[in-house]
Amino acid sequence: MAVPKKKTSVSRKGKRRAGQHHKLYRKHPMSCPNCGDHTLPHKVCPSCGTFKGMEVIAMKNEELEGEDEV
Ligand SMILES: [Zn+2]
Repeated sequence: MAVPKKKTSVSRKGKRRAGQHHKLYRKHPMSCPNCGDHTLPHKVCPSCGTFKGMEVIAMKNEELEGEDEV
């Protein structure tokens, strides 16, 4: 059985885990090619609703959308 030559120090272990944490939980690692806003990779842009240059979600237009009041 393979055995580690040296004991992993507390600080080394902590640094390794911190690196994983930062990689997993960093926010907005890329910007949208359409609008330039911050988005997540492989996800539809939340501000303009496009993905790979195509409009996937029709964003609601506040001018056209009138509230029906009685
Ligand atoms: Zn966008």
